[in-house]
Amino acid sequence: MILVTGGAGFIGSNFVLDWCAQHNESVINLDALTYAGNLENLATLDGNPAHVFVRGDIGDFGLVARLLAEHKPRAVINFAAESHVDRSIHGPEDFIQTNIVGTFRLLEAVRAYFGGLNETDKAAFRFLHVSTDEVYGSLAKDDPAFTETNRYEPNSPYSASKAASDHLVRAYHHTYGLPVLTTNCSNNYGPYHFPEKLIPLCIHNALAGKPLPIYGDGQQIRDWLYVKDHCSAIRRVLEAGRLGEVYNVGGWNEKANLDVVHTLCAILDELSPRADGKSYREQITFVTDRPGHDRRYAIDATKLERELGWKPAETFETGIRKTVRWYLDNQDWVKNVTSGAYRDWLGKHYGEC
Ligand code: NAD
Repeated sequence: MILVTGGAGFIGSNFVLDWCAQHNESVINLDALTYAGNLENLATLDGNPAHVFVRGDIGDFGLVARLLAEHKPRAVINFAAESHVDRSIHGPEDFIQTNIVGTFRLLEAVRAYFGGLNETDKAAFRFLHVSTDEVYGSLAKDDPAFTETNRYEPNSPYSASKAASDHLVRAYHHTYGLPVLTTNCSNNYGPYHFPEKLIPLCIHNALAGKPLPIYGDGQQIRDWLYVKDHCSAIRRVLEAGRLGEVYNVGGWNEKANLDVVHTLCAILDELSPRADGKSYREQITFVTDRPGHDRRYAIDATKLERELGWKPAETFETGIRKTVRWYLDNQDWVKNVTSGAYRDWLGKHYGEC
């Protein structure tokens, strides 16, 4: 049994789906179902006893303590977070509450649980904290990619709150001997991505005939990884990572935002052409840049590749094509998310949100 937090979000739900498909081991999925949590992502697991969903907050010490005592997981994987940079700029409070206070309370509950395990179970136990490359700040054009020894220089309330959570996780290892692992990953893309982030937003807007908004000059560079590759890296680190270590996760796919959108337009032009025969590129609109927008992120994943033999299965070209195909094939999911209908579905299954 493993306990996953935030398993109804974008990466967490991909992780839970892959885990249930590949492992003969149950998952308890603790998720508060904020606007970003969507149980429709997990609809294929309905009725599957290997997936136990619990609606709740990682900051609820009593609930987490009870779940740990009841299910005795051999690992906790923490995906739960407020994750959208723009939202953190307009309202940082939730980010401090979940990413810092929530992670702290979760760690406290896990520390108490770990302290009560016998020596064999202690030796097997892992707490894996999922984090971001944004904690390292921004790179200049010719800087080398971030390694695990880069200084933390977070620039947004989101990345600052994730940086704080990483430090807490580190401290619980050094102070209390909690067997922790941390992964810092680059930008993910793929199925079930909430359409507030660049790639799903552009696919959605393109098909809806709406503008494709590009911040500033569109030359901000991000390093992209297909979400299933992130999930495989987490499984690998969980299985073989050295305790207390940090592993950067990335696919060596640095792309300027504008190039990403051009690629999306080209694939959409081919797979779902506009009725007027024009390219979706016509819909690109430049908008005022985000305040404090980091210019470049790039991840050096050498440690994970050398030490644990991990490699991504997708290149950017194969992953982005699969992603566009997924959105085209799952227009109902997109419609439900963008119309808010998934909340009604949620209401029916789990009460009011
Ligand atoms: P997401 O916003 O899609 O999902 C977050 C999930 O956490 C949601 O299901 C939400 O309901 C849940 N949640 C929020 N607050 C909670 C709380 N207090 N208690 C319990 N559940 C709560 O985020 P994501 O993109 O799937 O990211 C998951 C993790 O991976 C985050 O920690 C994020 O920092 C990290 N990460 C994301 C990316 C990326 O590109 N998306 C890259 C690197 C790392």
